[in-house]
Amino acid sequence: MTIAFIGLGNMGGPMAANLVKAGYEVTGFDLVPEALERAGENGVRLARSAPEAVEGAETVVTMLPSGRHVLGCYDQVLGAAAPGTLFADCSTIDVADARAAGQAAVSAGHRALDAPVSGGVAGATAATLTFMVGAGEDDFAAVSPLLSVMGRRVVHCGGPGAGQAAKICNNMVLGASMIAVSEAFVLGESLGLSHQALFDVVSTASGQCWALTSNCPVPGPVPASPANRDYQPGFAAALMAKDLGLAAEAIRAGGVAAELGLRAAEIYAAFAEGPGAGQDFSAIVNAIREKS
Ligand code: NAD
Repeated sequence: MTIAFIGLGNMGGPMAANLVKAGYEVTGFDLVPEALERAGENGVRLARSAPEAVEGAETVVTMLPSGRHVLGCYDQVLGAAAPGTLFADCSTIDVADARAAGQAAVSAGHRALDAPVSGGVAGATAATLTFMVGAGEDDFAAVSPLLSVMGRRVVHCGGPGAGQAAKICNNMVLGASMIAVSEAFVLGESLGLSHQALFDVVSTASGQCWALTSNCPVPGPVPASPANRDYQPGFAAALMAKDLGLAAEAIRAGGVAAELGLRAAEIYAAFAEGPGAGQDFSAIVNAIREKS
């Protein structure tokens, strides 16, 4: 299968490289010359533009920063792709933008699905991503082998847009639970409780969650967590703020009484305005401590 891969950044670069390793013929494009050059070193054939990349491709994968970029890119390439091309957008974008992009592709005579990922740059590199797919049955069956090359789990979440819906719901849980865990550590500090004692109890009690046991926001209890390397990401706070912003938009649009989700979006938006943006999202614990 010939694949066009548009957006060869932190995630798209290693994902495209894994497709090449698995024997797919991949033609790539990115606006940034350095990203393009790196992809070339990994065996990706380089195109001079997005429309050139999609010429003759059976599947077009996009991994772009936001909905605006995806809609803009689709605008450029839908007319250049062969009829019936399968468009798979793996970016994390608004559910409404995902549906609009899918509809634009279908109106132009193509097939389309959303397949956002979880697992970060480490997962993209090691091909252990989880894909959350919004697609019809046939399109899901067609794209599954391809996604399985880049990830470990491929979950069919429902029709178009359902992948993005699952992604923002998951990250709303993650953002809110990281804030809750961080508040508990700072409260524990004020009550004279050691980090290790709190960890030993909560990690084996009903407060147990990924934010605590895998990405523990204080150094010590989980040696591999970003807190032990000065909060280098991991998953940057700016990306968490972006994903919670998408969740907040969906919460408001749906009139959902998700007060914690909205508050988590505000907390991470404020944190990501300053130097916190480039830190792992678990560094929120320091902002909570500073304010206390
Ligand atoms: P990135 O900024 O490193 O890469 C995006 C790339 O898209 C850039 O290289 C940029 O030059 C390119 N680009 C933008 N507009 C373009 C266009 N019109 N044509 C061609 N290239 C274009 O971002 P990333 O970290 O790779 O993230 C990509 C997507 O994956 C985002 O939606 C992000 O939310 C999501 N995501 C990221 C992570 C993570 O940990 N980095 C985890 C899960 C999901």
